[in-house]
Amino acid sequence: MKKSIAIVGAGFSGAVIANQLAHAGYAVDVFETRPHVGGNCHSRRDDETGVMLHVYGPHIFHTDNERAWEFVNRFGEFKPYVNRVKAITNGRVYTLPINLLTINQFFGKTLRPAQAAEFLTSLGDKTITTPTTFEDQALRFVGRDLYEAFFKTYTIKQWGLSPSELPASILKRLPVRFNYDDNYFSHKYQGMPADGYTALVERMFDVPGIAVHLSTPFDPASKTDYQHVFYAGPIDAWFGHEEGRLPYRTLDFEVFRDTGDYQGNAVVNYCDDAEPYTRITEHKHFSPWEQHEDTILYKEYSRQCEDQDIPYYPIRLARDKQQLERYVNIARQEANVTFVGRLGTYRYLDMDVTINEALITADKFLASARDNTAM
Ligand code: UDP
Repeated sequence: MKKSIAIVGAGFSGAVIANQLAHAGYAVDVFETRPHVGGNCHSRRDDETGVMLHVYGPHIFHTDNERAWEFVNRFGEFKPYVNRVKAITNGRVYTLPINLLTINQFFGKTLRPAQAAEFLTSLGDKTITTPTTFEDQALRFVGRDLYEAFFKTYTIKQWGLSPSELPASILKRLPVRFNYDDNYFSHKYQGMPADGYTALVERMFDVPGIAVHLSTPFDPASKTDYQHVFYAGPIDAWFGHEEGRLPYRTLDFEVFRDTGDYQGNAVVNYCDDAEPYTRITEHKHFSPWEQHEDTILYKEYSRQCEDQDIPYYPIRLARDKQQLERYVNIARQEANVTFVGRLGTYRYLDMDVTINEALITADKFLASARDNTAM
């Protein structure tokens, strides 16, 4: 048996690295502060309705990355699932991402694709040549009316900041389409794990040599007990927040149950300020292959993350990135510790990106271990 590895955090980053290293013969100790694996992707069945719950909010797997897709499919069946989001604004229901139906319904038109593209170009603010903020990106490419209806208030509710302070990259996550395709994502592969994300992650950990310690924090001082530590917790927590706390948004969910079908769709966004929440998710629609008489829903509220809250979205304004840079500089001096994942690198990562990066991290570690043995 080779020397042992500590992995801090039992989400996708930790699970992928543990799996790869255990297969290479390492003994791996995984430490997780929460009583379950899966991180914020954790899923479990609701006791009352039997519905598979996305406990920390909705997660839809979508990717163009062949390796990440092939990898996750080794650990369980993925059912076909296409995310189609509805959005309510000014008392009307539309479809997102902005597509031909959204444009035609919103403006009361019957445009064809090329006409709609031309129409949106005419609405865009051409004085904005290189948009860097969320607001400029929206004003440049969809114009003020669509921006104010769908993005401005939702973004203020979601981020607690004006879109003029946020980077364009956040809006670039969403496509604009000039056809009737209302698939929220443009990726080649999209699906939902048949038994939920937690079952998938549990199977990644189910390799001889891996010991998962739930409800067990890891003390950074224990790093000397291990050959190497992969740390997927918040980077600032590893250093005792000595450079201050990196800011996150956290989410609160108001959970309610009903009979039958409450909203007819998995995700309905509330884009204006008639409601304080950003969206309502009806979890049984994330598993359309299952039948449930009753239903469970989450009303999602976003707010600033305080010390004891669960961090969700890294904010990453310029000042936050400077603070991150200070942590990255001290982290560089940390021998034998690799910082991974959304919290370890303070980035807004989709699941497929997290998994692909974790696979690459494991490859690099194994390759350098081989080189050292060869020397
Ligand atoms: N967004 C918005 N209105 C919507 C949906 C999204 O303004 O109806 C903005 C919001 O700022 C959000 C960003 O677009 O943070 C990215 O949306 P995405 O659906 O990728 O957010 P996530 O599901 O990761 O929260």
